[in-house]
Amino acid sequence: MPDRVRLQIRVDNQLREQLRELLVRLRTLAHSPHPPFRHWGSIRESLVAEAALRLVMQAIGSTPQPPSPQELEEQSVTTLREFLEEWAEAGVAASICPYLVLRGSLAVVGSLGIKKGDGPPWRHTSDIYKLYVAEALLRRTTRKRAREAYKKLLARYPTASDLASAPPTDVREVLRGTGLTKRAEKLIEGAARLKESEKSLRATAEEGLVSLRRQLKEIPLVGDYTADALALHSFGLVTLPLDGNALRVLWRALKGVEPPQGLRDPYRDTETKLMRKKLLMHSPLRTAQLAHFAILDIGWDHCRPKHPRCDTCPIAMTCRLAHFRLLYSK
Ligand code: SF4
Repeated sequence: MPDRVRLQIRVDNQLREQLRELLVRLRTLAHSPHPPFRHWGSIRESLVAEAALRLVMQAIGSTPQPPSPQELEEQSVTTLREFLEEWAEAGVAASICPYLVLRGSLAVVGSLGIKKGDGPPWRHTSDIYKLYVAEALLRRTTRKRAREAYKKLLARYPTASDLASAPPTDVREVLRGTGLTKRAEKLIEGAARLKESEKSLRATAEEGLVSLRRQLKEIPLVGDYTADALALHSFGLVTLPLDGNALRVLWRALKGVEPPQGLRDPYRDTETKLMRKKLLMHSPLRTAQLAHFAILDIGWDHCRPKHPRCDTCPIAMTCRLAHFRLLYSK
């Protein structure tokens, strides 16, 4: 756990100073012999998440001042939710709070992951072609295989032009052993479409997410999820790609229940889309990008479909389902 977390949120000097002071106090509290969070493995992450949340809330200008470090120690606040309840009483709309909590926490988890160098190779790029290749592969195979195929393809065809002009047999050869050889033609076609339409896609992005999604989905191997991922990371539009990971994390963390049985495609579910909308309300772009990374990591490493590993999950303190599980396990 690093000592400092850099957040991509615009703050003024006064707020920065407050945060610095708060972090010092929170760290002291975390190291005290009887930390109030001792049931949780991720205590320090949670403390940083709290600080981050304050930043997020202040950045959108809709919150009263957070309690001072002294007040914090006196109150022995135990969860993010308790903070929020206080803030809700102080006038922040209660229905929005859990979303801000989750978003602030996810942003911190995403930010820590980037700092530690976690995640697949495409996490550090905003290049449309590279992200297109990554998502086109990921949607159709495992992470391990997608990573392998991605490295091979990018090493051989570093640009969209290179792949667009490659013979299908060569691309199939590069993909041999990854289980993705059948995708060769579509990938070539997709690369050609990207190359032709990059300029017009940039112009469409100015019109907004709906138009951009529509145009992106005309490219082979681009569905709802990939369109959102490209819009978020390559075109700088705030959105959250919805897959099984997002579905589980959103439903479990915000509602405290499993996603509806039989719901395969989150894009067809009004409730899930509403949760996403609330989560992203007034979100800065970088926060949304970090939240996406965090959801992927949490979904893969902790929030498993059958047996969620709440005891190691970094957002356990902000997750309703984890709270319920803790309550009923006693
Ligand atoms: S705390 Fe548990 S249920 Fe909640 S997001 Fe993490 S793993 Fe999933």
